[in-house]
Formats: sequence, structure tokens, C-alpha cells
Amino acid sequence: MTLDKVIGVDLGGTNIRVAVLSADGTMSHTARTKTKSEEGPEAVIRRIAALIDDVAADANLSPDAPVGVASPGPLNPRTGVVHFTPNLPGWRDVAIVDQLEGHLNRRVTLANDGNCATLGEMRFGIAQGKHNIVYLALGTGIGGGVVTEGVLIDGKNGLGAEIGHTLVSIDGPRCNCGSIGCLEAYAAGWAIQAEAMKVATTADGDRLVELAAGGLIHAGIVAKAAAEGHLASVAILERAGRALGAAIGSFINMFDPEIIVIGGGVAALGELLMGPARKMIPQYSFVDMRTDVPVVYSQLGGDTGLYGAGALAFMMFDD
Ligand code: ADP
Ligand code: MG
Ligand code: ZN
Repeated sequence: MTLDKVIGVDLGGTNIRVAVLSADGTMSHTARTKTKSEEGPEAVIRRIAALIDDVAADANLSPDAPVGVASPGPLNPRTGVVHFTPNLPGWRDVAIVDQLEGHLNRRVTLANDGNCATLGEMRFGIAQGKHNIVYLALGTGIGGGVVTEGVLIDGKNGLGAEIGHTLVSIDGPRCNCGSIGCLEAYAAGWAIQAEAMKVATTADGDRLVELAAGGLIHAGIVAKAAAEGHLASVAILERAGRALGAAIGSFINMFDPEIIVIGGGVAALGELLMGPARKMIPQYSFVDMRTDVPVVYSQLGGDTGLYGAGALAFMMFDD
């Protein structure tokens, strides 16, 4: 049976978003509610189910329309269990698929938000028609995914591919994952912010403090200062960009992709970050593989998670 519509759920630390996705990529009936993770997993899952019921009723969906859930990991998509996620305090080995199916008269499937986004880019986004894709979500952390010959590469438990934790230096900065020298520890929103905070405490940091006007010195502030020519900010973004370029060079060698897609909030920094990255890529990839791999920005914006969750449901339930 060919599926016509599915329901996508984007579960985040702050918001839960739900939408209906049509096979042609039309999104409708978007709805959102606060996650309120402090209420614990059962309460959150009950509210996800209620929101799905509302959306399904509004859209007149039959019970045949399945649900795809994009969640921060680590999680096991085979068993539908979220093991642990720093964004949802108190979540430990939560059987979210079983619980949602218990509330809903629908099939439910689950995957890591980075992997979902990769499927979303392939089905609905800028990687449409491509079968070999590397997607990087530059957000607070760095997520992503790899598709080769149309198949998502996610390992024996579905925990891969954590490409944000690709090693770019064996004596680099400590990463939030516990390891050392990961791409994320150079180029994630949190890492750029941590560097900026250090600069802000020096005589060179006055402009950053001014621009932040009492708020956080986040990556957007660093970009603003860099665009003005603030040298310490240029240096922060160059360092992050060089790490990104080194990692992308490795991805080209490992996966021989047709396209590399850059998404997430930090992608808004644009060429201030990607310029230095682009310069590095050829230095870190094989001569015969590096010639023509486009590195492009996602066009799905803040809806990547929803498109991705929908793409997951189509992939799992449609054939
Ligand atoms: P996530 O979904 O992982 O929380 P996003 O993809 O929404 O993250 O990106 C958030 C990150 O984007 C923040 O860590 C911040 O450093 C960075 N960022 C880039 N530009 C801005 C901006 N103008 N305002 C706020 N954050 C920004
Ligand atoms: Mg997110
Ligand atoms: Zn790491």
C-alpha cells in the first residue's frame, strides 16, 4: 500500500512539534507545545500523544497514517528506546515507541534527530535525488548522518553515525561526550561560545561584551564581531572552520559522497565559518575524490526535524 500522509514529531529539549507530511513534501497542520521535560517521560509522552491526536483529527487522518519521531539520542531505533539524552533530564531507557503506540491507534517509529534530518534532506530537501549524502547539523552540539547508496549508515544498534564526534585532533579540547578533540569541541555552538567567553575576559574582548549587551556571547555575536573585522572573533571562527574542513575532508575520503549538506543554527554563520572550512577540505581529502563534492546549506530551516521525522515514517512504513 502506498502511503499518502504521515505524522512527523520533532522532540526537542524545549519544544515538541508535530506536523502532517504528504508524500509530495507538503507540510500542514503544524502544532507545538512546550516539552516540560521536568514533568518526566510519562507526562511528556502523554502530551506528545495528545498533540498527535489533535493534529490527526484536524487533518482527518486515518489510523493508517503512521508516526515518525525524531529525538535527540543516544537511542535505539530498533527497539524504540531512548537510552539517555542530555536535553531531556531524567530520561533513562524510555520505551517511547511502545508507550506512544499504547496511547495511539497507530504505528510509531523512532530515530536520532541527526539521522532523521539526513533522511529529510534526501527525501524533501536539497539532497533530493542523491543517494550518497553526508549531513551535518551544526547546532548547540553537532549531529548528522550518512547515507550511502540510499541506505542510512547507523550500525548494529542504530546508534551511529555520530559524525559530530569525528576526531580532528588527538590533543584537542575536551568534548561534551567525554572524548578529546572531536569536531564538536571546535565547531559546535557551545564550543564557539566557550572560546568567545574566554576572549571576553581579556582586553581583546570588549567588542564581544558590547555586542552581547548583557546577554549570552553566542556564535551569532561572534559572527557579528568577525564581520566587523574583530580579529579575535575572526580567529575563533577560522579555528572552528578549519576543524570543520578537516572533518569534511575525512568524510569525503570515507564515504565518497555526492553532496555534503550543512544545517543547524550555526550554519547561519555562513561563509565566515565555511570559508575557512572550504580552504581546508582539499588538503584533507584524496586527490581523486575531492574534485567536485558540493558543500551546500540546508534549505529546510527550522523545520528540518519535522521533515526528517516524516521522511523516517515514509521510509519505515511505505513500500
Ligand atoms: P539545537 O537544536 O542543537 O539546540 P540550533 O540548531 O537551534 O541548536 O542552534 C543553536 C546554536 O546556534 C546556539 O548554540 C548558538 O551558539 C548558535 N547561533 C548561531 N547564530 C545565532 C544567533 N544569531 N542567535 C542565537 N544562537 C545562534
Ligand atoms: Mg534541535
Ligand atoms: Zn565528542
